[in-house]
Amino acid sequence: MTTGAHGGMLEAALQQLDAVAERIKLDPGIHKRLRQPQRALIVSVPTAMDDGRLEVFTGYRVQHDLTMGPTKGGIRYHPDVNLEEVTALAMLMTWKCALMALPYGGAKGGVCCDSTQMSRAELERMTRRYTSEIISIIGPDRDIPAPDMYTNEQVMAWMMDTYSMQRGITAPGVVTGKPLLLGGSLGRREATGRGVYYVLKVAAKECGMPFKGAKVAVQGFGNVGSVAARLLHEDDCCVVAVSNHRGGIYNPRGLDIATLLAEHPHGEAISHYRDGDRITNQELLELDCDILIPAAVEGQITEKNADRIRARIVAEGANGPTTPEADRILAGKKVTVIPDILANAGGVTVSYFEWVQDIQQYFWHEHEINERLSEIMTAAFQRVLALARKEQVDLRTAALMLGVSRVAEAKKLRGLYP
Ligand code: GLU
Repeated sequence: MTTGAHGGMLEAALQQLDAVAERIKLDPGIHKRLRQPQRALIVSVPTAMDDGRLEVFTGYRVQHDLTMGPTKGGIRYHPDVNLEEVTALAMLMTWKCALMALPYGGAKGGVCCDSTQMSRAELERMTRRYTSEIISIIGPDRDIPAPDMYTNEQVMAWMMDTYSMQRGITAPGVVTGKPLLLGGSLGRREATGRGVYYVLKVAAKECGMPFKGAKVAVQGFGNVGSVAARLLHEDDCCVVAVSNHRGGIYNPRGLDIATLLAEHPHGEAISHYRDGDRITNQELLELDCDILIPAAVEGQITEKNADRIRARIVAEGANGPTTPEADRILAGKKVTVIPDILANAGGVTVSYFEWVQDIQQYFWHEHEINERLSEIMTAAFQRVLALARKEQVDLRTAALMLGVSRVAEAKKLRGLYP
């Protein structure tokens, strides 16, 4: 999905849905239903802080569509979290799950907070209270949260424990992205970055771009960007730049990602890495490279810088890094944009594997997980590309057409209750 000019992510999501609805001649009734989330919950999350103060955070969980199964989507902890953003991201999850043919609808949640300024104990108390507040609408067969920005395996473990204690059972299937020991899946932690890598491999081939030696710039060195950079580096791509929110590092001859990761395992202070020049995040986006991976936050490629993007392929590791205006400019420059709902779908795909393993209590080998992920990502890219070529549209439009059509078809089959 793309973001609106003024960060109006929901407005942009609705615009995209409307445009696709027209293109696929979507039934007007179904269109109306899909424009609104099925359910949205706003909760207050009173939390005791370490200094004795009481803080009241606001939390959200939005379930966009439950036609094809329980809902699925991450939980983010960020100061910008609000109802509109979470609703837009939930809608995006619906199209993502449908495109990947996963038996889920889309959801998203979050707490408006600056988790970087909170202690571990504060985060635990906030997470447990937030989970209790949304407990009536989540569950292994209702809605299954997962990590997103600034949440991780530990947060998922606290959510799982809170849910399990209140129900009096052990319910690993209530969240995905858990620690391995609690029913997590091998390969889940790196699945989103790995999915970006698989999709880029097939995209480069289809674009006639030599993969070996391709120059890659990666914005964001978190769970998505750092894994994608490492796998691309291991496959002989030339990763020329990486960055985090503090800034980046550039070396036109290629960075040694393995050493960089060994020295900065959590991605902090990477801009101080000695073997390259320091650059800003804006400079990174405009570098001379073949592949650009925005894997940080939304709204990074806008009408202000799209014209200066020099990459031939942009793979959206983040959700919504490109604005609709920028999308049009990039299309005009014949830049291939692999949209978020395809490029970063590896995360939710391996979340699905995790949930299946939890239900069956039967756990897979890592190579099986990676092989299945590779197959699913490659096949999804091929489906999107085939439709884009047939309909003469960009990959984002084609991906949305596939996702929305699938949900619409399912809605038609189920009919309207009562
Ligand atoms: N938060 C991730 C996403 O945006 C993963 C969601 C999940 O695994 O359920 O796709």
